[in-house]
Amino acid sequence: MSRREIAGLGVSPGIAIGSAVVQETRQMPVLRISVPSSEIDSEIQRFRDAVKETIRTIDDNRRRAADQMGEDYAAIFDAHMLIAGDASFQGPVEEMIRQESVNAEWALDRVIADLLARFKDLGDVYLSERRFDVLDVGSQILQTLRGQSGWSLDNLDEPVVLIADDLPPSMAVQLPLDKILGFALEMGGPTSHTTIIARSFGIPAVVGVHGACEAAKESQLVALDALEGRIVFQPDPAEVSEYRSRRHEYEDQQALLAQVRSLSTVTKDGRPLNLLANIDLPAEVDLALQWSADGVGLYRSEFLYMRMSPALPSENDHLTFYRELVGRMAPRPVTIRTFDLGGKKLAREVIGSPEANPVLGLRGIRLCLAKPEFFRTQLRALIRLAGEYPPGSVKIMIPLISGIEEMRIARLLIAELTEELRAEGHEVPSSIPLGAMVEVPSAAVLARALAREVDFVSIGTNDLIQYSLAVDRANELVADLYRPAHPAILRLIQEVIQAGETEGIEVSMCGEVAAAPLMVPILVGLGLRNFSMNPQAIGIVRNLIRHLSYRESAQIAKQALEMVTAREVEEYLLERLAIFFAKIKISV
Ligand code: PEP
Ligand code: MG
Repeated sequence: MSRREIAGLGVSPGIAIGSAVVQETRQMPVLRISVPSSEIDSEIQRFRDAVKETIRTIDDNRRRAADQMGEDYAAIFDAHMLIAGDASFQGPVEEMIRQESVNAEWALDRVIADLLARFKDLGDVYLSERRFDVLDVGSQILQTLRGQSGWSLDNLDEPVVLIADDLPPSMAVQLPLDKILGFALEMGGPTSHTTIIARSFGIPAVVGVHGACEAAKESQLVALDALEGRIVFQPDPAEVSEYRSRRHEYEDQQALLAQVRSLSTVTKDGRPLNLLANIDLPAEVDLALQWSADGVGLYRSEFLYMRMSPALPSENDHLTFYRELVGRMAPRPVTIRTFDLGGKKLAREVIGSPEANPVLGLRGIRLCLAKPEFFRTQLRALIRLAGEYPPGSVKIMIPLISGIEEMRIARLLIAELTEELRAEGHEVPSSIPLGAMVEVPSAAVLARALAREVDFVSIGTNDLIQYSLAVDRANELVADLYRPAHPAILRLIQEVIQAGETEGIEVSMCGEVAAAPLMVPILVGLGLRNFSMNPQAIGIVRNLIRHLSYRESAQIAKQALEMVTAREVEEYLLERLAIFFAKIKISV
């Protein structure tokens, strides 16, 4: 065990020192291995033992889910136990091991593939959902066969630094975040969703640390430096104490920000702005309130699906959750974005089959319209919700709009469902503010026309940058090409803000750029008034805005818009703002 350092990209600031836990999620290929006839019986026994152990694990998880979320949520585990113990599932695996003299992993993989194909042909929504249960159970047995265990962070006494090859948001939301000191991920990018979750909870994170999983297996202690973007395995004692003091320094700096918690968000020359919260997980509502957010500018409702997965939320599940959210934020407005599943966010239950290029596939509004039964359920809940609160308290926002038609269809659907609910005797609002995310370049280019169709727009820079610059937001290999200050991005943002002003609708920004210190002066200067961000960032941005002058920001924006490369803009901003940032202790 010797000292080793790997560089990466710091994406959520802070420093963490602790022992490492490694989680590799990459799929390992299933190998076909011939088993000698003398060992067939013991291979079958190995499979039976794995099934038994899996059933025990499912039963443990069932008990935990029932305790934490109630019996309804535990039902899915009953279904999994039934599948695992079903002879019609076990029988074919054992038969294949015996007849083809193959290893249990291979036989299991084949039998599952066969079952999935048969389910698919049935074409029934309920049965097609059951495919995923079979798949889940199959992979759990496979993991047991391979001697891997599932997540066990819950049982740890001490918080740890989690090191993983990849950590999709569907897994991140299952983690006990209070047990995580920091994340080091081999994959991921500056605005991938797990990064966003880390930022929201103030968990230091570094992505793109290639080789971290292997290195961590050899070391007991790690120091994660998400300010500089690196991880040190087996740091020496002097280094550990240096990291400890840097961590204190950072924490003291954060504590100072608490002073701006209840101050107003207004520029030096008197321009009032709104700072709203982006919410993924319920715990963020506390943070939003602590930082006196002016409302929720983006609730990513797909996280409700991820948290309930593999069950799908019913109309009442939606309603119950939203009521709590809107009730806690009242009287501040809450913008609920209809589910943006697909892409890299769990879409399995809704789409059914994997896509070759999911980020350009069936995600956002496209998936909603392709699967109207799920969309209708959510919209009905949202309309009922809006009927329960004063006008304007609940706003509906549609993700991934790429053309005007999508917005028109969504509006028609809402009108139709409002009538349906009225006929059923529900209280319905006379109208609900309906808005579009502007995160696909075509929507930004058509901003004027789009603005005439909606009550508000919100600029989603995470995707807008990804799609405009053709840079996967979750790919560390192209992270250096992901440039918010790219002149093309600045122009698109300017177009949208101006379109909103001309058409008299509200414009906000809910992408991560809204909280990027270097970009905030440009946004203020371009006339943006509503900034929505992870609640943890509100303090920094409020402090920054209170020191900015709108007049000077407008000049900065004007200058930046005359430049033609991202580097020119970045250098200009750094030079122009360095002294100012140093004075108010903001690091960029
Ligand atoms: C965005 O794309 O900027 C956005 C806020 O949406 P998400 O990050 O959920 O894709
Ligand atoms: Mg988006």
